[in-house]
Amino acid sequence: MRSKTIILLVALCCFSCFAEAKKGKPVRCGPSNIVCIEAIETNKGIRLYATSRRKYPRSVRFEFTKLKNLEEARHTKEHFVVQRSSRVRIARLKVKDQSRSWDYDFKIRSTYGDFAVRHNRHARYDLPFPVTAPVKVSQSCYGRFSHNRPGSKHAVDFQLEQGTPVIAARSGVVIELKDNSDKGGPHPKYRPHANYILIMHDDGTYAGYFHLKKGGSKVKRGRYVNQGEVIGYSGNTGYSSGPHLHFVVRKASIKNLTESVKIKFETKDGIVSCPKPGHFVNRMYGG
Ligand SMILES: [Zn+2]
Repeated sequence: MRSKTIILLVALCCFSCFAEAKKGKPVRCGPSNIVCIEAIETNKGIRLYATSRRKYPRSVRFEFTKLKNLEEARHTKEHFVVQRSSRVRIARLKVKDQSRSWDYDFKIRSTYGDFAVRHNRHARYDLPFPVTAPVKVSQSCYGRFSHNRPGSKHAVDFQLEQGTPVIAARSGVVIELKDNSDKGGPHPKYRPHANYILIMHDDGTYAGYFHLKKGGSKVKRGRYVNQGEVIGYSGNTGYSSGPHLHFVVRKASIKNLTESVKIKFETKDGIVSCPKPGHFVNRMYGG
């Protein structure tokens, strides 16, 4: 009797494993090609799943833009979080009239981290360069030139010579980087050409170090870096009016998808959140 129960349990488990492993047909990925949608079609309708190609959490916004001869058989998940180890079921569509053709389309956008993340207000950030001389702030929070979007409102630009070492302002894991571009200029069309390193902190927020020089990354994705460690070299790539480092801390947000957060830099002159543009900042310690 007991062995029969075990066989039955194993059979059920295998069946559910098999059902879980049933792969959907790839439909389309989001603009960054990290989160992708798969579909499983049956005679009853379509089930849509989201998958991710990254280890760390990705927050996703999903919306149908077209439903032809289809109806939502259960509530579609419009905001959700997906990780590489999981597959999230986001929608179930039912064919209304089996004798007619059906079609659907959707919009998908995703960002780094989890929507539920909260920035640790007590976290202290180093100025992101090991320069002991005063460094000029060329643009600060709410700067009109380019710090006017939700993801950059609390960003600070430090005027640094190309090739100046850049250090981790706070410890964390390198989640993304790009360092193969040598294009830059004072026009938004250069925005996609910025080299950068993104480091996720233990509270789930992440810091962005932008406009690095070509080949200017000293770290690899997945590597843990300590506060103060050199991670790369500054440059002038992307949307930039001159050599500088754009530094920003961000989190995922349901309202804006990505939002920058106000942080506290530790400087020689005390704690500073948004140093005044045109003014100079000093590191607390040399090195
Ligand atoms: Zn900037």
